[in-house]
Amino acid sequence: MKKTGDLNLVKRMNKAIVLEYIQQHAPVSRATIASKTGLTKATVSTLVSEWIDSHMVYEIGTGESSGGRKPVMLLFHAKAGFVIGIDLGVNYIHALLTDLDGEAACEHNMTHANASVASVLEDVKACIRELLRQAPASPYGVVGIGIGIPGISDDHGNVLFAPNLGWENVPLQQEIEKEFGIPVVIENEANAGAVGEKRYGAGQDAAHLIYVSLGSGIGTGIIIKDELYRGATGFSGEIGHQSIDLNGPQCRCGNYGCWELYASEQALLESAKSSLGRSAADVDSLLQEAAQIGSAEISGLFAQLGRHLGIGLVNIVNSFNPELIIIGGRLTAAAEWLDEPIRQTMEQRLLPYPRKPLEVQFSALDSRSTVLGASTLAAGNFFGKLKS
Ligand SMILES: [Zn+2]
Repeated sequence: MKKTGDLNLVKRMNKAIVLEYIQQHAPVSRATIASKTGLTKATVSTLVSEWIDSHMVYEIGTGESSGGRKPVMLLFHAKAGFVIGIDLGVNYIHALLTDLDGEAACEHNMTHANASVASVLEDVKACIRELLRQAPASPYGVVGIGIGIPGISDDHGNVLFAPNLGWENVPLQQEIEKEFGIPVVIENEANAGAVGEKRYGAGQDAAHLIYVSLGSGIGTGIIIKDELYRGATGFSGEIGHQSIDLNGPQCRCGNYGCWELYASEQALLESAKSSLGRSAADVDSLLQEAAQIGSAEISGLFAQLGRHLGIGLVNIVNSFNPELIIIGGRLTAAAEWLDEPIRQTMEQRLLPYPRKPLEVQFSALDSRSTVLGASTLAAGNFFGKLKS
């Protein structure tokens, strides 16, 4: 009996290897898969047939051959199913429907007033409903929903604590699964952002990277040796709550002088209020003002924010020695004002050695790091089930 079990396990592993190879290297022939993976041609042929039967792989045209009959090429069927990625912000929801390769099919964005947990949940459901309505027909349909949250969750998708959203112990995964009957993955929004950058963005070639999500607060996602680092109980990356001011004001997390009190959107809006003597509606309006009238006062506010960001980034580099830091979130639109003060601060304060191979970049995913990461996690969940 044991032997049979082992053989099944080997078959499942080989089947997964074949699909992953096709996903990463398509178009590819059966012969190439066999030679690159070390599996026999007969095994590859059997496993490819099974993937074709389950609509995950299809054949196309012919490829180059060194002689004789030209081989049929295999492609991954990215549109065999679709996934929904959601970035649940403190005052907005971004929802994106992608195929299994992250190609966007449609999106639905809305703002919310964060009046109550129930009202935000209804808004999340409304976004999902809209994307389900627009989803193209496919063999598997919508196979997963990934939700990035500005807080921490447990293994069952309960949001334990999201201070900027004012949530505690909200069974988000259960609520959404009950409503739609589709598997749901919940992940911290910065962790999801790191996954999105690693899979589709600036981090594709970096094994050790930190994604810094600038929003109402600051979240960070840590990739070590190509894998998301969640820590012992999943709470890693709360670096926005490192104290950078011993005597600073109390944060919503309970700590004092937290980095995010000095270097987030909220910090920018508060310093705008005190130094300009008036409130700015949001970061976008400050950016527009800075771009249109080139106000020295406003660009000075961004420069101060950049210096504060640099201080926290120095701590991150000294802790993790990453090869790449990616800054994401809506404030990436202010990159031209933030870039230089960040670099100067890091230059002044970093130890000389980790500074050398380090790169700091702004996300080029257009605020989609988290939604793409969330959809990647949902797709990974689906693949995991297919392969088992
Ligand atoms: Zn804090």
